[in-house]
Amino acid sequence: MNANIENRTGNSSQEAARAVVIGSGFGGLALAIRLQAAGVPTVVLEARDKPGGRAYVFEQEGFTFDAGPTVLTAPAVIDELFTAGGKSRADYIEFQEISPFYRLLWHDGTRFDYVGEERELEAAIAAFSPDDVEGYRRFRDYSRAVFVEGYEKLAHVPFLDIWSMVRAAPNLAKLQSFRSVYSMVARFIKDEKLRQAFSYHTLLVGGNPFATSAIYALIHALELKWGVHFPKGGTGKLVGALARLFKDLGGELRLNAAVDEIVTGPSGVMGVRLKDGEQVPARYVASNADVVHTYKDLLRGNAPARVAARRLQRSDHSMSLFLIYFGVRGDYKNLAHHTILFGPRYRELLKDIFDRGVLADDFSLYLHSPSSTDASLAPEGHSTHYVLAPVPHLGHGNVDWEVAGPLLRDRMLASLEERCMPNLRSNIVTTRLFAPPDFERYLNAWHGSAFSLQPTLTQSAWFRVHNRDRKIPGLYFVGAGTHPGAGIPGVVNSAKATAGLMLDDWSER
Ligand SMILES: Cc1cc2nc3c(=O)[nH]c(=O)nc-3n(C[C@H](O)[C@H](O)[C@H](O)COP(=O)(O)OP(=O)(O)OC[C@H]3O[C@@H](n4cnc5c(N)ncnc54)[C@H](O)[C@@H]3O)c2cc1C
Repeated sequence: MNANIENRTGNSSQEAARAVVIGSGFGGLALAIRLQAAGVPTVVLEARDKPGGRAYVFEQEGFTFDAGPTVLTAPAVIDELFTAGGKSRADYIEFQEISPFYRLLWHDGTRFDYVGEERELEAAIAAFSPDDVEGYRRFRDYSRAVFVEGYEKLAHVPFLDIWSMVRAAPNLAKLQSFRSVYSMVARFIKDEKLRQAFSYHTLLVGGNPFATSAIYALIHALELKWGVHFPKGGTGKLVGALARLFKDLGGELRLNAAVDEIVTGPSGVMGVRLKDGEQVPARYVASNADVVHTYKDLLRGNAPARVAARRLQRSDHSMSLFLIYFGVRGDYKNLAHHTILFGPRYRELLKDIFDRGVLADDFSLYLHSPSSTDASLAPEGHSTHYVLAPVPHLGHGNVDWEVAGPLLRDRMLASLEERCMPNLRSNIVTTRLFAPPDFERYLNAWHGSAFSLQPTLTQSAWFRVHNRDRKIPGLYFVGAGTHPGAGIPGVVNSAKATAGLMLDDWSER
């Protein structure tokens, strides 16, 4: 298993003196750019035929579908990558600001436009629930305070030892990070629908608002500070821009290069072996792949890794998602770019998804309608969309997705038709489904989780997978499973934390 990779391949030590990044999600690409920009020869090995990971893009019958992330909330973290490479982001990709950030629709027909301009947002709250304006302002102040502590100070800093956690603890305790996001919102805001409006965001990073640490209330401040953006041409174009930046800096991106094993020896990492048997020597390997997959499968020959794998398999993983990508005749101009359709239940539905593992009859939906902003994603006179429902991951619940998937699809499309897309089903030109088993099949995601480990307090910061492994020299992690967590800002910040460690180690080699 741990044979000397350099001897076996006859490669020179020069080739081993490079970094390998396994996976080309946003985290993997961001790390590779930082390493390459700092002069470390870096190779990205991606199992799929295109880069992007969850941000995969595909074309079908003339429609372009971004498969995953669509809400870009901290464009500054992307700009920093271009600056690190001595380039300007504007030369690679344009961002468009979205307004409203989200349109929220409740099942009884109520509607709320969640906008970024403060006075406009307060006016919308006043029209919705006049008694809540003052409470909302206090929530906003709270969100900004957590943003400073939890994001500005800590998001890009690795938590390698318990002391880093102890140092951060007093401020986080003062901000009541031991509470859930929902319970914090509920302390300030009385109206149940507005409580939902200011707490559902944790679902965008895989957390149940009733269990996710109130640190994540910072998302509201983050959105107000930078706005919500969409890359011109879609998220796939942003992935393409990052891949191009990496290559312009001299990096090597290899597609269809699935890693089968991270090869280790007595002194740590020696390289990786691909599924086709090819050996790639490297002293520094960072995994952007799922953390359970990395420890359990890629490091199956390594004893400390097997222990880590067992622990991680018992951890709480985020929910999965059921997605329908669909192209339709008509532009559905009434739609906002991002729509959240709440179902009749909130707390109990989340219990079904996260705790009971039940695929309920009702659902809450997120609808992406990028053609509202960017006509280039669909043929003329048509529009591109996807709709997703959070669902239990494969580790609890016993859902046969071959049977349940098409039934859920029909119910979701009927609901959209009734609530915001008249005549939808007769206008559909093309569809594609992506169900929990697909997260496992295409992304090696443990239990088909869409966002890796849940962002609970006991799985955050030092408690999350460390950016540098404690037992295996030369092994690093980047992406949703490591600090600070899922979402584009999260994984791009994780790359900053991991790059700092790798560059320190590189300079000391
Ligand atoms: C449907 C959906 C919608 C989302 N919406 C948003 C949003 O609007 N805004 C937001 O900020 N976040 C959103 N997120 C979350 C965000 O997309 C993810 O947290 C983030 O993109 C994950 O990036 P990552 O760096 O962890 O890598 P991933 O995207 O998970 O990529 C990991 C890569 O590793 C590769 N890999 C795995 N195993 C191997 C192997 N053995 N060998 C080689 N390669 C391997 C995979 O093929 C993959 O390309 C969404 C997620 C989903 C699923």
